[in-house]
Amino acid sequence: MDLTKEIEIAKNVRRNAYAPYSKYYVGCALKAKSGKVYSGCNIENSGIQAICAERVAFVKALSEGERSFDYIIVCGGSDLTKLDNCLPCGYCRQFMNEFVDKDFKIYVLSENDKIEEYTVEDLLPNSFRL
Ligand code: ZN
Repeated sequence: MDLTKEIEIAKNVRRNAYAPYSKYYVGCALKAKSGKVYSGCNIENSGIQAICAERVAFVKALSEGERSFDYIIVCGGSDLTKLDNCLPCGYCRQFMNEFVDKDFKIYVLSENDKIEEYTVEDLLPNSFRL
């Protein structure tokens, strides 16, 4: 699978992160089964909990009527020119779990375009679902 376009979207949107508190810049690209790609970056706030890049992308897509998703690419780090191994936080894992199938993939991008592949089950085993 060629993820080149989505990788560039995830990397580029990091520049839009609003992260004056953590100074940690996260970007992601969420591919819906419709074919559309939704970007997201982290948005922090002094008074309330930050919104992570993953949830920004999901909320953008869900509010546009999307309900089926193929994968998300996540990347982040404290330096805009470098990438850490930035895995989704627990809150995002549970949030994504609500909207994805078992075959949904979470790709974590780190330095030199190294990609690790996970499923929600990998990151959130024995999860809560209604
Ligand atoms: Zn998160």
